[in-house]
Amino acid sequence: MGNKRTIIKMQNSTSNVNVANVFQKVEKEGCKARFIPYYDGCLVMVEGTMKRELALQGLPGVMEVITTDSLFPLAGKELTGGKSSIVKIAPGVTIGGGNRVVMAGPCAVENRQQIRDAALAVKKAGASVLRGGAFKPRSNPYAFQGLGSEGIALLREAKEETGLPIVTEVMTIEAIEWLEPHIDIFQVGARNMQNFPLLKALGKVDKPVLLKRGAMSTVDEWLQAAEYILCGGNFNVILCERGIRSFETRTRNTLDLNIVPLVKSLSHLPVIVDPSHGTGIRSLVTPMSMASLAAGADGLIIEVHPRSEEALCDGAQSLSCGEFSQLMDMISRLIPALPVQEETEKICGAIPVI
Ligand code: PEP
Ligand code: MN
Repeated sequence: MGNKRTIIKMQNSTSNVNVANVFQKVEKEGCKARFIPYYDGCLVMVEGTMKRELALQGLPGVMEVITTDSLFPLAGKELTGGKSSIVKIAPGVTIGGGNRVVMAGPCAVENRQQIRDAALAVKKAGASVLRGGAFKPRSNPYAFQGLGSEGIALLREAKEETGLPIVTEVMTIEAIEWLEPHIDIFQVGARNMQNFPLLKALGKVDKPVLLKRGAMSTVDEWLQAAEYILCGGNFNVILCERGIRSFETRTRNTLDLNIVPLVKSLSHLPVIVDPSHGTGIRSLVTPMSMASLAAGADGLIIEVHPRSEEALCDGAQSLSCGEFSQLMDMISRLIPALPVQEETEKICGAIPVI
């Protein structure tokens, strides 16, 4: 467990004077206070033990005082009183609290025809977010590294034509600022889950972040990585299980579905699953997608390629457009059989519903 922390939830749109007053009370006791933007309001996080903690409760503008020794007090369910958060991805597209989202598209954007065909097909099949990497973190330096800014331009064209919001990977802090106007979700890849400067920078953006679990990371490390983003004031974080490295060599990774119900019991953040990287094998993607939803996942991210035999990246784990359409059909029949999901905290997100 971490050090004891007190989180003071201020009322939405409370005045600066009320916040300053809370800071003063905290600092008077020799404790350090940290300001954290929280949707339309803010949190004040206090490090250390306050003698007169109870007195905070009655201060003007204070909604709730939460004390915890969690390693991830902002990602943990204490913050929301056990409820789930809903993350708003784009107008009309929300995830969490019973809203399940399927994101689909190729591993990498390869050319105009490929991303256009993929986008039209996944849209037709019922996906609500288009995936596609323009900056690819490849294990081998000579492997296709992605089209870079040209790939982003092609993703934008596909978005304009289909209306699908875009999720794409960001690998460097420098790329965040120029990517932000063009994309809808920043993906942090498994290899960057503990790139702390990148996580800190994404804490300052106004767009959702899809945080993939590192292939060698524990749940606690993953939730602490999410905490880096949250403590910067960006609460629009979606967690993504994508398989961990085990002794098994028949599959690319071992998809750890244990953590879906586990993380949902520990955190208010939505959790999705990537069965493409989790298995590495096309024929396993459909069954593991169904298993992920049955385990309680809030969504899926699936690689789909219109001509996977030509794919420059991850062809062996990419569904064809037809296979994806069949999977979506199966999903639509599975959903009514799943238990109704949990209570939700609040509608949040950077993008107002129109
Ligand atoms: C990807 O989504 O294409 C990707 C590189 O995933 P991961 O970071 O999970 O390996
Ligand atoms: Mn891939």
